Amino acid sequence: MIRAIIISNILLFLVLIGCNPDPVNPFSIPDEVLPFVESFEEEAAKRGVSLVIDELIVEYGTELESSSGGEAIGQCFVPNSRNPIPRIVIDTASFAWKQNEFSRELLMFHELGHCILDRLDHRDDRLSNGNFASLMLTSSNNLYGPKLNNFKREYYIDELFDINTPEPDWAKDIPAYEDLTAAKVRKFIDEFDDNRFSWPFNFGGETKGSIADGQFQFASDIPDQALSTAIQLALDQGLDYEIELDIKIESGENLALFQWGGTREAGDFFFAGFSRDGFFFGGQWGIGSASTLELPDFDPDGFNKLTIRKIGQFYYIYANETFAEIYEVEELPGNLIGFFVGSQTSMKVDYLRINELR
Ligand SMILES: [Zn+2]
Repeated sequence: MIRAIIISNILLFLVLIGCNPDPVNPFSIPDEVLPFVESFEEEAAKRGVSLVIDELIVEYGTELESSSGGEAIGQCFVPNSRNPIPRIVIDTASFAWKQNEFSRELLMFHELGHCILDRLDHRDDRLSNGNFASLMLTSSNNLYGPKLNNFKREYYIDELFDINTPEPDWAKDIPAYEDLTAAKVRKFIDEFDDNRFSWPFNFGGETKGSIADGQFQFASDIPDQALSTAIQLALDQGLDYEIELDIKIESGENLALFQWGGTREAGDFFFAGFSRDGFFFGGQWGIGSASTLELPDFDPDGFNKLTIRKIGQFYYIYANETFAEIYEVEELPGNLIGFFVGSQTSMKVDYLRINELR
């Protein structure tokens, strides 16, 4: 009897232990995520915000869901009475995690904004130039990166720690297309009357483009394979210049881009252009996309004009003569200019014109 009672007590004890949750380590962060948490603390300190993160769990997960039920690449579970430790789950298979250190930082800082700074709401309004106002935006976007838009990082991190941060000067630097005062001196023009500049169209024995009826036509009919064609044309980054072209995406759903400053060996270029569904894309292949912006007056079935003006230390980019984006001028990897067409997509270009601006 006594023995039986002892045994049942032991069983009860075991059952009780079994019901207790494992003790939770209040600070559990994977090694590759830790530097972002540390730099978050450093960025806070630089801005006079005293922040020591000693309770945070970061885990990897897939098929994450946003609060509105859509797909998400990161999630923050704010502390509550049952789970008092803030917890972040990130999808390491996501493009944002894989692209580069800056897109990783944007993802982590966004979730830390929710979980550590108590910024529970998203902020989707725009700055005067059309760029997003906050990295606490609903969608994932490359607001800054290592090239072209690195100068924007400081503002976005200021705003993360202080939502009342005023608009930065660069967001108000929106020169109207027609306000250009410099004289234009023609440096290059191809109206595609013939292939006088020897655009290469031969890919592995197959012809993927042509010049006919005053238009350049280029297409990739290969699934999952984009194509790029280029010629030599050196651009002097010490001078100001303007590149203009009319691009039409004739069929397919993918990208049609102009590329400049490229190298043949590395296949590296700066790029700017459009997607069929009316987004501007800009970036450098070595680092990926620098920005993706929805265009207000894009014609999906016609030609859309792309203008890239290099003036001083900035590129001002226009779509259909409306300001679209500002980038910082970078050293060019090489002397190739050309076109890129996404897989199973066909593009046309009506003219390509490059002027020096004096
Ligand atoms: Zn969020």
